[in-house]
Amino acid sequence: MTTERSLVLVKPDGYARGLTGEVLRRIEAKGYTLVALAVTTPTREMLAAHYAEHEGKPFYEPLVEFMSSGPVTAAVIEGQGCIPGFRSLAGATNPTEAAPGSIRGDLGRDWGEKVQKNIVHGSDSPESAAREIGIWFPDL
Ligand code: GDP
Ligand code: MG
Repeated sequence: MTTERSLVLVKPDGYARGLTGEVLRRIEAKGYTLVALAVTTPTREMLAAHYAEHEGKPFYEPLVEFMSSGPVTAAVIEGQGCIPGFRSLAGATNPTEAAPGSIRGDLGRDWGEKVQKNIVHGSDSPESAAREIGIWFPDL
């Protein structure tokens, strides 16, 4: 396995709940390195690019609406296997089903809304990571 980079977001729910530090703590405790960090409120254009694979799905509009509703913390992390490694730290997409020990399993829940507020995003492949890092950190 080679050293790789992943794009991590602390979504608006995680940011508003003050969980950025907790997410970054877990990333660093796991042994991954932070190589870029920013707080920003994403535009709909950025989110359309970021979530292009989900366009047309029933949860797409509520997701873009939610993700543009406030600040997020964006990070690029680095380390061997950090793409699947962070997905494992994050846990299953649905926080109700996510295993205890994971970020979503320990800190997330169902809030009874159309959108799944699940605290974090992590790239799912090297191709996604390269594409997403280009959206959030074009100068990197
Ligand atoms: P992830 O890679 O685990 O974040 O999940 P996906 O890439 O499949 O989906 C992107 C985001 O869309 C998720 O993190 C959720 O916030 C949301 N999402 C995905 N699937 C669903 C769904 O079936 N219902 C709802 N309401 N939201 C979803
Ligand atoms: Mg995904």
